[in-house]
Amino acid sequence: MSCISSAACIFCKIIKGEIPSFKLIETKYAYSFLDIEPCSKGHALVIPKYHGAKLHNLPDEYLHDVLPILKKLAIALEYNIDSPEGKSYNILQNNGRLGHQVVDHVHFHLIPKNTEKDGLIVGWPAEKANFDDLSLLHKELLKKLED
Ligand code: 5GP
Ligand code: ZN
Repeated sequence: MSCISSAACIFCKIIKGEIPSFKLIETKYAYSFLDIEPCSKGHALVIPKYHGAKLHNLPDEYLHDVLPILKKLAIALEYNIDSPEGKSYNILQNNGRLGHQVVDHVHFHLIPKNTEKDGLIVGWPAEKANFDDLSLLHKELLKKLED
């Protein structure tokens, strides 16, 4: 098993089997299980087997299995989603306290959206962009990405 862990971390303990979980899919680099406080039926978590708090702390190889696992889970959970337009769900990955992260081990939520009231409820303060500001930001980011 490939696992870089922290002794105090609840998700590392779940990966090692020290805390029980309703395990779904496990690969060399990732582990998935049902969330213990679901906000909708089928709410699941996928965690890389590497203890890092935020996404940018992880080596790339620990991320490779995450999207394919989320995809498999989304397909498996389809039974659960009976809205007329078909399956609705969100993938959520929180980083930092302001970003609503509670457990400091990177995790991806798969949250079925079965009704208006369950699952992820999103609101964000979008505003029309100023194109001069966007253009400046674009240049700054491209420069940083080159470095
Ligand atoms: P965050 O807000 O950090 O993105 O979400 C952490 C998630 O982990 C929450 O949805 C919470 O219910 C879940 N969680 C925390 N502790 C446990 C646990 O011991 N077992 C399971 N299955 N889920 C947990
Ligand atoms: Zn951990």
